[in-house]
This record gives sequence, structure tokens and C-alpha cells, in this order.
Amino acid sequence: MRRISLLGATGSVGTQAIDLISRAEAGAYQVVALTGARNIALLAEQARALRPEIVVTSEPGLLEDLREALTGTGLDCAAGPEALREAAARPADWVLNAIVGAAGLVPGLTALENGATLALANKESLVAAGPLMMRRMRETGGRILPVDSEHSAIFQALAGEKLDALDRIILTASGGALRDWPLDKLETATVAEALAHPNWAMGQRITIDSASMFNKALEVIEARELFGVRPDQIEVIIHRESIVHSMVGFTDGAIMAHLGCPDMRHPIGYALNWPQREPLPVARLDLAKMAKLSFEAPDEARFPALRLAREVMEVRGLAGAAFNAAKEIALDQFLAGQIGFMDMARLVEATLDLLSTDSGLHNDAGSLEDVLAMDHLARVRADELSAGFARAPRQA
Ligand code: NAD
Ligand code: MG
Repeated sequence: MRRISLLGATGSVGTQAIDLISRAEAGAYQVVALTGARNIALLAEQARALRPEIVVTSEPGLLEDLREALTGTGLDCAAGPEALREAAARPADWVLNAIVGAAGLVPGLTALENGATLALANKESLVAAGPLMMRRMRETGGRILPVDSEHSAIFQALAGEKLDALDRIILTASGGALRDWPLDKLETATVAEALAHPNWAMGQRITIDSASMFNKALEVIEARELFGVRPDQIEVIIHRESIVHSMVGFTDGAIMAHLGCPDMRHPIGYALNWPQREPLPVARLDLAKMAKLSFEAPDEARFPALRLAREVMEVRGLAGAAFNAAKEIALDQFLAGQIGFMDMARLVEATLDLLSTDSGLHNDAGSLEDVLAMDHLARVRADELSAGFARAPRQA
């Protein structure tokens, strides 16, 4: 029996992980901790089915609702950030971090500090605190198994290879919902338009980040931290079909590509079953029917987030924490109709510019406190700066 914890269980990745777990034979898994945020009804429904040791909502104000929803189950529940941290610290064989945003940093780091095998969907934690996370992992003998589809693809392509034979990483990107829009029209894109992803069904925030390529920008940094490569070894290529999930180029010129249908249950299941490969309920590719796979270089004028990611990697230090935090504020503001689609990158860039003088952006991410302090400062500065971008609310 494998003891597993599911952090962010009620989201897109979390529910797909539960789909896989619920197909396993009875007794194969024991769920230790199950966590969510505001969707108490779903969290309680999952808890009734999985019978974890502890059920946690990150929202302190929702503890009573959770307790009521669990009436008669005899299950323990708790709420708030400290409860979340405690849940992540519980001994488990496998901890899935499927929390969205920087809120995933403390629970993920806590799991690593306890030597866990961390199945990591929460890329934001690696962007904000990659060197710290990797250091903790090495110190405790913990492990990170990537769940992000691109990084899972790279991880699989690297299996059995020596890292010094790695020449480059080629991250594929669908280009998102707005990939065929003329550049000037992008300024007017609405939330609904940015949410219409051509290939992947994902949570709302990552879907908007796909349209702006902030998601790919985070993934470039994630790849650098996870695989320890230089920034110039990471390339991004637009691949509309989302069939090649990423590639690794080796020093002998060979490229190993990972192909599959765009279904997150593949990378989640790979991490769940690692180091084994087990059958997964995902559709099989029909290459003849597909006929064509296309690749094109991204236009950085359309996707300034990619340029910003390179600048962030050059600074390293606490720049990743600032970048991720400013991006989260920019996304909040876009979702609230306060700023335009292309303003997100402008706001992030203005925040980084402001922080590049006298704010310790270049300092090493020595501790969690340093990272959280920079995260906080970047949010405050991005919030202040956003007033300069604010516009009259638009029609949806
Ligand atoms: P989602 O919004 O669907 O779900 C997020 C989960 O986090 C929910 O369970 C929610 O309750 C919880 N949560 C939200 N705010 C929280 C907070 N403040 N504290 C604790 N928990 C909180 O998100 P998602 O699309 O499943 O993405 C989760 C993570 O996986 C993100 O880092 C995302 O970038 C990454 N990821 C997602 C996909 C995908 O297909 N959805 C693919 C690759 C990577
Ligand atoms: Mg991805």
C-alpha cells in the first residue's frame, strides 16, 4: 500500500490524480492528507470517498463549513496555512503538490524538508525558490518528480542518460488561445477569449498564462532549476498540435522527443507509478490520422514573457520570486478587468525594473524568509504600479 498526500486536490490536476487513484484496486493507496481551498463541497465529497487522515482547507474562515460537510464521517479536519504546512509534513510515500500559485511554496518545501518524494505540478514554487528547493531536496534525500507535462517529458527522455551528454532542452508550447491573433488586437483580448485553449483543459489561471506565454516563461525557469542546465541551453518552440510534449537534444546531435495525447493524466500517472510504467487510461495516438506535426519559432514581440524569463534567469537570486509574484498580481488584475492582456507583461517588467535597484533582487534566495519577503514586496509594488495601467472596464 502506498501512502500519498494530495495538496490542491480539488483543482484540475488534483481531480485528475484522484481519477487515476480511484481506478486502482482497493487498498492500493492510503490517502494521508487531502487539501483544498474554497470548494468545500468537492473537498468533502473527495474526503468521503478517500478517507484521508486529515482534510484541510487553506481558508481559515471555511473551517466550520468543512466540519459541517464532514459531519458523520469521523474524519479530522483543519484550516489555514499552518494546518496546510502540518498536512504537508505528515509522513507519506508520495506527495502531490497541485496547489496553484506561490501558495504552493511552503507546503512543497515542507514536504521536501521531510524527505518526501514530491510530485510537483506547482511550478511557481520552483520559479520563486528553485535553488532553495533543490538544496533542501539534496540535503534530505527527498526527490522531485515533475508533473508539468513538458518537464515530465524531459525527465522521461533523460531516463538512463548521463546529464553531461545533455546539450539542450526544447520546450514545446501550443501558443495558447490567441496564437493567431494580430499583434495589435492582442491588446483588446478579454478573459473569455484568452481562456479558449486549443488543446489542453486546465485551471483558469494556467490557461490565461498559456495565452500570454507566462506559463512557458515559468516553465523555462522551472526546467533550468530542475535539470540544472544553463539558460542558453533551453529553447522554446511553438508546436500547435501539443503532441510532442518536449524534447532533449544530446551532444551527439540526437533528439529524444516525448509524444502522446494532451492528457494530464499521463504525466500525473507517470509520477504516481515511477519508477514503473503502468497502463494509463489515456487515448492512444493515431499518427497517420494526425498526418502533420508543425514547429515554429515564437515571436518575442507577441510574447514578452519569454524575454522577461531570460532576464530573470540572468539575475537569478530573488528575481524569480519577484517575477512570479508580479505575474500573479498582473493576472489577478487582468481577470478583474483592471488591465489589458498585454499590460500583464508591461506590469511585470515595470515591477522588476523598480525592484532592480536597492531591493535585494540580486541577493541569493538563502532562506524561505528571503523568498517570502521578496514575494510580498513584489506584490505590493505591482499593485501600486498597476494603477498606472488601469483602464475603464471593458465589455466582456
Ligand atoms: P486549479 O486552480 O484548478 O487548482 C488549484 C488547487 O489549489 C485547488 O485545489 C485549490 O483549492 C488549491 N488552492 C488555491 N489557492 C490556494 C491557496 N491559497 N492555498 C492552498 N491551496 C490553494 O489549478 P491547476 O490548473 O490544477 O494547477 C495546479 C498547479 O499545477 C499550478 O501550479 C499549475 O501551473 C500546474 N499545472 C497545471 C496543469 C493543468 O493541466 N491544470 C498542467 C501543468 C501544470
Ligand atoms: Mg506545462
